[in-house]
Amino acid sequence: MTHPSPSSTVQAALKVAEAHRLILDSLSPITGSEHVEVHAALGRVLAQDVIAPLDVPMHDNSAMDGYAVRASDLAADAETALAVIGNAFAGRPFAGRPGPGEAVRIMTGAVIPDGADTVVMQEAVRREGDTVFIPAGQQQGRNLRRAGEDLAAGSVALPAGKRCGPAELGLIASLGIGEVVVRRRLRVAFFSTGDELTPIGQPLAPGAIHDSNRYTLSGALSRLGCELLDMGIVPDRPAALEAAFAEAAEAADVVITSGGVSVGDADFVRELMSRMGEVSFWKLAIKPGRPLAFGRIGNAVLFGLPGNPVATLVSFYQFVQDALLAMMGVTPLPPAGRFAARAAFALRKPADRVEYLRGRMLRDGTGLGVTLAGTQGSGVLRSMSEADCFIVLPEDCTSVQAGDTVFIQPFHGLV
Ligand code: AMP
Ligand code: MG
Repeated sequence: MTHPSPSSTVQAALKVAEAHRLILDSLSPITGSEHVEVHAALGRVLAQDVIAPLDVPMHDNSAMDGYAVRASDLAADAETALAVIGNAFAGRPFAGRPGPGEAVRIMTGAVIPDGADTVVMQEAVRREGDTVFIPAGQQQGRNLRRAGEDLAAGSVALPAGKRCGPAELGLIASLGIGEVVVRRRLRVAFFSTGDELTPIGQPLAPGAIHDSNRYTLSGALSRLGCELLDMGIVPDRPAALEAAFAEAAEAADVVITSGGVSVGDADFVRELMSRMGEVSFWKLAIKPGRPLAFGRIGNAVLFGLPGNPVATLVSFYQFVQDALLAMMGVTPLPPAGRFAARAAFALRKPADRVEYLRGRMLRDGTGLGVTLAGTQGSGVLRSMSEADCFIVLPEDCTSVQAGDTVFIQPFHGLV
């Protein structure tokens, strides 16, 4: 095992925008798909367009409880009396056809009877026995939902590349479709590296700590709908790491490790990654998370995340998540929302790196503010739990004063 050569240790830290481009440019979606039942499509990525087999809605129907009438019967500037000849309920259409001077009592969702072309809402009319009085001023075609207005038969209801959420499940069901074709799950192998790491349930030797990164990573990966291969803890021994990398790269589409990517004497991960595969970059101009290795072994994409628990999560959300979504075949969305917020804190920072602080949004009636969530050390995992947003300070920012505008990324929707 060779240690990083001085020249490689001084490799310039890559800028965030370049890293995003480099990562996304080098990835392509996995192939392979499967049929799943509608419920099971939640979180899955459509592998084919879903085509509407029918018009939704199938018939012109009423958007209101009221009366279906023929607009041509109605006087322009006086009340019109119409004979009510029957009822139309959702799922129970009126079988007849209103003629001149006739109306049908109709409920929301009921098919508009042949001959009628307008619904007058019931709050607007007066009813006496079998006669309904319609006030002047009705507009032809009001309060109707037209056949095919939601979706026309033969049109793309949902495009391939769409990740299904609750609305998509409902839309698929509304078409009477019971099964959809989705991409197979992305297989992600992950392990923690470090001689100090101790599994839960074992006593801690002096200087040892419990492995938390595998739990944060398994949570984040499960939410994305990945298939997880948890490979446990691997000690800081090149032979053990090499075997783990070989096994992971064989079994998975993506390998994610934490720890061992800096330049310490026990940091073998990057070295091994470049010996067994290739490393595109391993140093980013960010905090936390400066050492972040990205590359490939065989067919697997590799992310070597820094070991500090906050750095692990920050680099996952800022760099890995979008990469995994792209590999899952998700059509890229516009970049995650960034919102301007008023800083309720002050700090100084060096230029030339992006900082991802953990923040808490403040809503005090005068707009959106943000304060720091607890201690910002990259080992203080509690700051992630107490936070509800990242505060993203760009490269050129060197200080923040209270009252300055900063940009935040709310966790909601992001994590
Ligand atoms: P490393 O990136 O290996 O230099 O680790 C940086 C810091 O993160 C050290 O304090 C490690 O003990 C800690 N660390 C590394 N891996 C983990 C892990 N899986 N769980 C919790 N802490 C970790
Ligand atoms: Mg380590």
